[in-house]
Order: sequence, then C-alpha cells, then structure tokens
Amino acid sequence: MIRTEQSHAKYELARKYLAGGVASSLRASMKPVPIYVQSAEGARIRDVDGNEYIDYMLAYGPLILGHAHDELTTAIHQAMRKGYTYGLQHEGEIGLARLLTELLPCAEKVALSGSGTEAVMLALRLARAYTGKRKIVRFHGHYHGWSDSIFTSFPGAGLQGNDERAATSVLPGTSGQSAGSLEDVILLPWNDPIALESALRAYSGEIAALISEPVMCNSGCILPKPGYMELMQRLTKELGIVWILDEVITGFRLSIGGAHQRFGLDPDLVTIGKAMGGGIAISAVAGKATIMNLIDEGTVSHLGTLNGNCVSTAAAIATIGELVKDHGSAYTRMERLFTVLASGIRELLNKHGLPGLINQTGPVFHMMFTDEQEVTDFAAFNNRDGAKYTRFAEVMLSEGVLIRPNGLWYISTVHDDKDVQETLHAVDRSLAKLV
Ligand code: PLP
Repeated sequence: MIRTEQSHAKYELARKYLAGGVASSLRASMKPVPIYVQSAEGARIRDVDGNEYIDYMLAYGPLILGHAHDELTTAIHQAMRKGYTYGLQHEGEIGLARLLTELLPCAEKVALSGSGTEAVMLALRLARAYTGKRKIVRFHGHYHGWSDSIFTSFPGAGLQGNDERAATSVLPGTSGQSAGSLEDVILLPWNDPIALESALRAYSGEIAALISEPVMCNSGCILPKPGYMELMQRLTKELGIVWILDEVITGFRLSIGGAHQRFGLDPDLVTIGKAMGGGIAISAVAGKATIMNLIDEGTVSHLGTLNGNCVSTAAAIATIGELVKDHGSAYTRMERLFTVLASGIRELLNKHGLPGLINQTGPVFHMMFTDEQEVTDFAAFNNRDGAKYTRFAEVMLSEGVLIRPNGLWYISTVHDDKDVQETLHAVDRSLAKLV
C-alpha cells in the first residue's frame, strides 16, 4: 500500500472549487484517487505523499522528452524572458512552420493552434470549405477531441465500450451536445475495407472528409490491416474526399515525420499535437497548399488568442530539435526499450497464467487482459477485461509505476534500461497480486 492521505485531502478540497475535482474529466478515473504531484524530473514523478513513480502516462502523451528536460526548459525560459505572447507576429512561428514543412512529408503549409481538439476542428472546417460538402466519415474507437461536431462513440465518454449501441448508431459523447451536431457524421467500423468502400461510394457526393487515426491508438493501439490505409488514400483521391490523418498522438511519436512518413502515406491534411510541444500546449494542421490556402484567402477563419505564441513555438522547436539529433536515434532507442518491456510483460502474463496481450507500435503500446488471441478491431478490443486492468493500474501505482487506467503506455527519450527492469519487477509483483 502507498500513502495517499495528502492526495485524498487535496482531491476533497479541489472538489469544493473545481468542477469534477480535476481539470480534464478523464483524470477523475484514477484509482485509488487522482494523484497530486509534488514535482517531476526525467522519467520519474513524485506525489504529495512522498511516493515516486516511473511514469509511462507521460501526461497522456506529450512528454516525449520526459519531465523538466534541460534543453526544453532553457528554451522556454529564454523565450519567456522576451515576453510570453504578443498577439503579433514573431520569428518563432515562421521557424516552426518552416520546420514542419521540412519534416512532415505531406506538409506544404501549416496552421498553428493550441490543442488537438482545435486542430481537428480546423481540419474539418478546411475540408468542408474545400469540397463544399458536409459529411464527415469517422471510425468507432477513434478519438478526435471533444468538440461537438466529432465527439462520439468513445468508450469511457458516456458510452461503455461493450454497449451494443456503440456499433449501431452515432451517439453523442456527452450530454449537453447539440442534437444536430452529429447529423453529418458517418460512423464506420475501422479496419473493414468493404464497409469503407461501400460507404464512401454510396455517399461520395456528400462527403467532405474522411478522418482516421493512422494507428487506432485510443482503442487498443491497433495497426491498420495491410493495404487498408492505402485503400483510404486511393478512394479519397478518386472520390474527391479530403483525407485527414489525425496524428495528434502519432505525430513526432512514431517517427520525426509521424505515421504518414513511417507508413509511406500521402494524406491531404494531418493534425498534430501532444509530442510536438514536449508538454507545452501547441498543435498544428499541416497539409496540401491547395487546401491550406483557403486560410490565406480568408475563406476559412482560423482563430485563437494564444495561437503560435512565442513560448509554445520555442517549446516545439526545442522539442523537435532534440528529437532530430543523431538522425533521430532516440526513436530507435525508445522502440528497443519498449520492445524489451512489452516482451517482458508478455512473459510475465504467461508466468502468472493471466490471459492478456500487448499491441505495440514503436514508442506506444496498449496492454489488456483478454481471452482474444489477437486484437485487430474495435469489437475484439471491447472484449477485454477493463475492470481487471483498472485494478492492475492501481496495484502498479503501489509498486511505483504510473500507467493510465485504460491500458495505453508511452515511453520518453529519457527512460532507460534500469527503468524498464524496475518496471518488469513491478509488473511481476502486481500480476501476482491480481491472480
Ligand atoms: N486526436 C487524437 C488522436 C487524440 O488522441 C486526442 C487526445 O487525446 C485529440 C485529438 C485531442 O487532443 P487534445 O486533448 O489536445 O485536445
């Protein structure tokens, strides 16, 4: 058992003043209590009760350089000494936009925003303006932020993953969403080429955009079937549909050029966020100039008081600068360490006779308890034992490892072999307690 008195007390206090007690609804699900942080450095985080954890939650993905990284912190301080935000133009936004066009294969032009949700909102707006059409095709189990026009059918957001309705209708992700906001959404199963082709052909005259995560990171870290993304690319090009890859997780995580570089894809637009800022709020839409030029022409409004502020652009430039060092060798290291960790956990699941599996794509993986031999679609993902995993995450916390209660693990450039070995010992002890 770990001490949690201070976190409990602070959570009770927070609930008096802060709606929900936490600043983002998902965080309330942490057991035994949402943890209050004292400080964090590198791969480690310390809480107000004096516990230390190896961190694989990494703030839900952005901390690709770990906590309080020296170069990143210096870059942020240097930028802040010259002001935080101007509401005027500065070199940093040109520098970052140029860097993105050099590093992301699909990027001819970019637009900067503050969060992944905003980037997706802009990408959808650009697609509608470009095509003059309304409908958006999206997939079960993917998450594209919480704006009214796209937030739907995500387990944990008011709808349970094994709820049959999740497979049959487009339901709002939360109460309070406008009833009409999802009218233009066509929801399809992912990794199903036949469903994809028939829906796109049937509705092509009305579809503005097809939006997809390149790897279904938000539900099982499921890879696309061979040829599936290429089919999306071919059909969208043929039918005049804007193809948006939502790389808010995979951008700067799967490779410098994101998933579309890693898989050799040519989307019209990508949305990136999280890892790009190393933990500072920034996101971007990047893609074909013919579409992005709608912003230049004033046809599409792109707004935001703090967009492209000098602190966030300095943070992104510094983060990317660290990631590109030594020809991106950090990616090889992260992937190697995560492969060691994932294989070790698989062995430990066997040792303890607990059915489960891990889907890994480079520096991100999803661990689940399940009787399935493999999980390659949302339906199979929903057969996992989510309650058991939540218990596991709680036990892991008491063993000194911080993981998300939903199963998704991230690694940073500063995790090392010692962290991985320590984590495997913690997994061993935790699984023993679960049996
Ligand atoms: N798109 C994807 C694929 C995401 O995973 C997320 C967040 O987890 C978002 C969009 C929304 O990003 P944000 O939380 O920064 O608004």
